[in-house]
Amino acid sequence: MSSFFDNIRRVTPYVPGEQPEGKVIKLNTNENPYPPAPAVGEILAATDADLLKKYPEADIGSLVRELSKTYGVKPSQVFVGVGSDDVIGMIFLSCFAGEKPIAFPDITYSFYDVWAELFRVPYRTIPLKEDYTIDVNDYDGDWGGVIIANPNAPTSIELPISDVEELVKRHPECIVVIDEAYVDFGGTSAMPLIEKYPNLLVTQTFSKSRSLAGMRIGFAVGNEAVIKAINDVKYSYNSYTLNRTAITAGVASLSDPEYFKKTCERVIRTREAARAELSKLGFSCPESKTNFLFATHESIPAEYIQKELKKRDIYVRYWNKPRINNRLRITIGTDEEMAALYAALKEIIASCR
Ligand SMILES: *Cc1c(COP(=O)(O)O)cnc(C)c1O
Repeated sequence: MSSFFDNIRRVTPYVPGEQPEGKVIKLNTNENPYPPAPAVGEILAATDADLLKKYPEADIGSLVRELSKTYGVKPSQVFVGVGSDDVIGMIFLSCFAGEKPIAFPDITYSFYDVWAELFRVPYRTIPLKEDYTIDVNDYDGDWGGVIIANPNAPTSIELPISDVEELVKRHPECIVVIDEAYVDFGGTSAMPLIEKYPNLLVTQTFSKSRSLAGMRIGFAVGNEAVIKAINDVKYSYNSYTLNRTAITAGVASLSDPEYFKKTCERVIRTREAARAELSKLGFSCPESKTNFLFATHESIPAEYIQKELKKRDIYVRYWNKPRINNRLRITIGTDEEMAALYAALKEIIASCR
């Protein structure tokens, strides 16, 4: 007798960082420590629940149009989804549909191999260099697709835009996706290159730099025909993805570029101070173009530090994975949260002497 279980697909899922409730210092999932733009709160407060009896815009048109104005592209060059996780998942499903393997770094956003497995996309991982940087020469080959997070996570390191262009130029045989989840924290976007390279897709998210992780909004910008192909797959799966509240909140967020700029600059300022402060405590981190630091201590194992911080209600991210198992990914919080982190680290370091 066969079991009903024989017909059930078993996959190994992505493991998100912990989301503890209560008063903790949460520096483990790269959320923004500052609230979203005030206009978002105003829109939410003024939302009429009666509107929710109707389906939202299937084409997410009002948000697509605002994004197209903000980024200087045509609405037909913008795809919007439920966080960039949804956007990138749809890209895997629609653009990585050939027989050839896709390529991405061995150390990067740990969702890429999960989507590849889920959508049965063959893939190869390309090792980062010893210093965690990407060498585009390592990607020479004939691929079904390439995806790079830039700046990369969890390393925080940016691949120079000239190298990004080189990568896109060398791979006209496939779609090259640049996942720019962190680009607003000092990185250079590849978006201006989309006119020149129809095989380039750039994805961004409202989760980090726009403080809207809880609202789930992400988008891709690229060639019209490619964006249409992704939309066709979306409409074949779930037509109404973003809810009405998310659409209006996204539009409200884009309406306040000054606030956006100010909060990004604040995070950057705290990050640079944190890198200096951590260095005094015996840590080293690569130069970061993100809202986190990828830290290693000269003598104390990362896993031990993570556990000790957790006892003190401070959460940072640790992976027990080859090549990064002595590193902590520390999200940049407010200056007050970071001060509490330094105090806790000093205590932990002193107790190890
Ligand atoms: C956070 C993150 C995403 C996805 O964010 P969403 O919240 O789904 O928009 C995608 N790529 C990288 C590298 C990230 O760090």
